[in-house]
Formats: sequence, C-alpha cells, structure tokens
Amino acid sequence: MTILITGGAGFIGSHLTQLHLERGDDVYVIDNLITGSLRNLETVANHPHFQCINADITQYDFSSLPSFDTIYHLASPASPIQYKKYPVETLLCNSFGTYRLLEFMKSSGSKRFLFTSTSEIYGDPLVHPQPESYWGNVNTLGPRACYDESKRFGEAICSTYVRKYNLDVRMARLFNTYGPNMEKNDGRVVSNFIVQALEQKPITIYGDGTQTRSFCYVSDTVDGIYKLATTEGLKGEVINIGNPDERTMIELATIIKKITLSSSEIVFQELDADDPKKRKPDIAHAKAKLGWEPKVALSEGLTATISYFKTLI
Ligand code: UDP
Repeated sequence: MTILITGGAGFIGSHLTQLHLERGDDVYVIDNLITGSLRNLETVANHPHFQCINADITQYDFSSLPSFDTIYHLASPASPIQYKKYPVETLLCNSFGTYRLLEFMKSSGSKRFLFTSTSEIYGDPLVHPQPESYWGNVNTLGPRACYDESKRFGEAICSTYVRKYNLDVRMARLFNTYGPNMEKNDGRVVSNFIVQALEQKPITIYGDGTQTRSFCYVSDTVDGIYKLATTEGLKGEVINIGNPDERTMIELATIIKKITLSSSEIVFQELDADDPKKRKPDIAHAKAKLGWEPKVALSEGLTATISYFKTLI
C-alpha cells in the first residue's frame, strides 16, 4: 500500500507513520514543521519505504506525487496554545488545505481519504456525552474558532466531496489524546502537568479545575484512526475516537503528582475564554462499526508518557 500522511511529523501523525511502515507500506509524509518535529521521525528517517517532504499543504504542488491507497490528513496545529499562536495557518490548513488534498485525491485517482476532525467541533457541549449526531455549541468569534470552525469546514467539504464526487472519504473526531511525542512546550494539559511535576514546579490548573476531559492514549487513538481508514463500507462516515474515562483537571493533577512522586504545589490560574466545561465521547459507533474501544487505562498511559518526558528533561 502507498500512504500519504499530512502532519506525519506531529504527535499523532508520527505514530501513524510508524504503524504503516511496520506494516510494510510505502509512507510519504508532508509536514511544514511549524508544530511537528523531525525528532518524532528519527527512528524511521532512513527507512527505505519512507519519504518526508518539508512543505505546506496549502501551497505544495502535489502533481509529482503518485496515486495513494490512503491519504490521511492530520496536518494542523492542535493544541489550544499552538492554534492561538498560528490562527491563520490553522484556518487555512483545515479549509483550503483540505480542499487542495481532496482535489489531489480526485485528480490522482487516490482511493481513500481520512480527515482527522476533533471533539472541538462540539464546542462547549450542551449534550453529554457527545454522540456524532450532536451539532455542537461553538462561538464563531472566539479564540478557539480558528480550530473549531476550520475543522467544521473540513467536515463540510469532506462530506460534500462524498456526495458530489462519490469519493471514499471518512472523518475521525479525535478527543484529547496523550502519549510519547507530545511536545514538551505545546501547552496541552497532560504535557504541562507532567513537565511541571517532574521539574518540581507549580502545577497550573486553569479555572477551578472542575472542568472535565476524557484522555485517550495515543496507541488507542492511532488504532482507531487506522481501523476507520481500513474497514470496508464506511464511505462518508464520521466517528468519535476517544476514551470515555472522564476526569476533572484536579483529578488529573493529583494522579500525575502521585505517579511522579512530585512535591509540586497545585496553583489555580485564570481560565481562557470558551474553555469547554466538559467533554466525553459517546463511542457506541466506534464499537459497532470498527470493533474499536480504548484498551490503555489512564494510569498505565500516564506512566508510559511520564517515562517519555523524563528522557526530554
Ligand atoms: N489546562 C489546565 N492547565 C494547563 C493546561 C490546560 O488546567 O496547564 C486545562 C484547560 O483549561 C482545559 C483542559 O486543561 O480545561 C484541557 O486543556 P488542553 O489545552 O489540553 O486541551 P483542550 O481540551 O482544551 O483542547
């Protein structure tokens, strides 16, 4: 199989790259490295079936590339800190970038396309847990809109290309994911808390810490993405990929402190605008259509992630 992964140098993309190389596929990665890192691809850099193209999908001329069995579109800043730093790039890679990739799929005769959408399309949800049928509650003007609205546009154009051109496009709504290859400074809660705990610095909870998230270990997320891309008969489907194990940020800080044996104090800081109060995936569709559910418990995944961060500190 010949596979294209945009954002393949990123946190999740690098694990997906590894998985396809292990399966014996030819893997092309396109990444502009604004939030991804070549360090994540060090172990595969010289692999004979691997090619990395340092380019921006909103500008790159795809015409020299072959036809692909699967195009995975993961390229986008994904941490709130990063997409607030790169709001225009985020808007464009999920909208214009997705359009350009779908056009390339059409002209090259590539067979399948998987767009990684996000739980952020549900915004600050009024339905809990969130099933795929929920349309969401998003502030189109707020600081998260560059990510939320461009991912919503991405879903809209993907489903349009299914209807209008009969292309085999699928969409994964990824919920919070954590694990090795997260950037130390990307600002996500898991990396922040782990780095702070390991460095014996204050653990920063934004707001009162009662907001919730449901954290999925990266091997489970990648397994879900892969199953969505490879299961037959899922053209046009959108499926939540996430772990329904819902935790408050206070709980998360407490667990990380315990595993790291850290003496860091917990401090409370101002909460950003539009921070969702709770988030938990309804994964009934993933179970029924992909035979997928997460396997890695939070304590197990955090222990592995902490070991990874110890190598960076
Ligand atoms: N958060 C926190 N401290 C941090 C970083 C994040 O309390 O140092 C909170 C943040 O306000 C949010 C949750 O943790 O409520 C998850 O934040 P993250 O940036 O990981 O992703 P989000 O789910 O908001 O996209």
